[in-house]
Amino acid sequence: MKLLQDKIMQEGIALSDQVLKVDAFLNHQVDPVLMAEIGKEFAARFRAERITKVLTIESSGIAPAVMTALELKVPVIYARKRKSLTLREDLYTEKVYSFTKQEESEVSVSKKFLFAGERILIIDDFLANGEAAFGLARIIEQAGATVSGIGIVIEKAFQPGGDKLAAAGYRVESLARIASLGEGSIVFADERQH
Ligand code: 5GP
Repeated sequence: MKLLQDKIMQEGIALSDQVLKVDAFLNHQVDPVLMAEIGKEFAARFRAERITKVLTIESSGIAPAVMTALELKVPVIYARKRKSLTLREDLYTEKVYSFTKQEESEVSVSKKFLFAGERILIIDDFLANGEAAFGLARIIEQAGATVSGIGIVIEKAFQPGGDKLAAAGYRVESLARIASLGEGSIVFADERQH
């Protein structure tokens, strides 16, 4: 997505060869006009999948997920991260290892909002090792629902998450794919071939 690539070039900062900082438009300050365009793009790519709900993870997935759900006219759920390990029967819960925090956390979704037979679109801000997306997929599958697609705003294609998700049979659509990061350099990769 050209608009997104331009924004990443203008405002993204490669913190290392592994981490891209985009807090000027996605991870702290949010550009609502760009998010609206991102929502339209995801909706166009996944409309034929007859999505019933969008699922993301707090907090940075919420903005693109809401704009996508608005276009698809379906609800959006965000999985909550919890420190407490107390088991709750009314929640679907999975452990997810956080790439940025380097710690394991539990993510959960209330059983009130996710049902068997639903067709769920996962949206997230970044894809690195695929931990967050696999955790959300396991929650969807616990509920007896189907993962109908995974939409990622920025995929770091030099990390293994995208290939792992595709190998597991999921359809992954990333709006920007990064081939490499370096001091003052951000290089894009081509779109994933399906
Ligand atoms: P994964 O679960 O695929 O290993 O990592 C994805 C999650 O880690 C995303 O939800 C995102 O919050 C965070 N993340 C991974 N890499 C980056 C990065 O380079 N920049 C930022 N801002 N977040 C990242």
